[in-house]
Amino acid sequence: THSVVVRDVAKTFPTKTGDVSALQGIDLTVADGEFVALIGPSGCGKSTLLRLIADLDPPTAGTIEVFGKPADRARRDQDYGIAFQQAGLLPWRTVAANISLPLELHGVGAAERKTRVAELAELVGLTDFADRHPDQLSGGMQQRVAIARSLAERPRLLLMDEPFGALDEMTREHMQTELSRIAAETGAAVVFVTHSIPEAVFLSDRVVVMSPRPGRITHIIETGFGKD
Ligand code: ADP
Ligand code: ADP
Repeated sequence: THSVVVRDVAKTFPTKTGDVSALQGIDLTVADGEFVALIGPSGCGKSTLLRLIADLDPPTAGTIEVFGKPADRARRDQDYGIAFQQAGLLPWRTVAANISLPLELHGVGAAERKTRVAELAELVGLTDFADRHPDQLSGGMQQRVAIARSLAERPRLLLMDEPFGALDEMTREHMQTELSRIAAETGAAVVFVTHSIPEAVFLSDRVVVMSPRPGRITHIIETGFGKD
């Protein structure tokens, strides 16, 4: 079955100088457990497409289904985890409390939350920083907190906008490996935006190449690294 089905989606932003067509004629299907990279030059609509799938913004035309439901229902049912480039952490919460947030929202009990948060903090190498606040961390560390938070509920779909962008090279490789492992273990589908061709090719089953003005999918490449 399909984690994501995007059908003939368009997105237009009204601006002072007229409408900007950010996306046009987008059709994309992501299979369960599939790893899909969105790549293309700046302004081709990668982030916009991801935000539409995440129901952070509605499409101007077309439909988006996540696990066979309209995207807004999937969002309410918490079927997916989101990690965007601007980490989006709550500044008044500690690292642990930020990671814990989706679990709290989902009504996971305090004891289980504690265990899961400790595991996740360790996974992203931030055990020693669990009691710090986001403004006491580097950009890369904040990004790791956002990744940990997006994994907290073991979502069936992960949406990630340049999740490794702010990481140094060593940490990036570690996080890439961990993400692949977690996605394989949990069977989660992943849709992620990247600027890096090697990252797109080595992490994903399919690379979706986009071009700007208006944002379109120009081709889709099977990497051959996919699961069989
Ligand atoms: P990418 O992520 O590929 O760099 P974006 O999705 O950020 O591209 O942007 C696609 C196009 O939509 C760009 O032309 C951008 O300027 C425009 N755009 C994105 N968000 C908005 C917005 N909130 N208001 C107006 N234009 C926007
Ligand atoms: P909850 O714990 O119900 O999820 P919040 O996420 O709003 O509630 O807040 C978590 C903690 O941060 C609470 O102790 C709350 O009092 C505090 N808090 C909430 N909003 C702010 C804020 N804008 N500035 C400082 N502290 C806040």
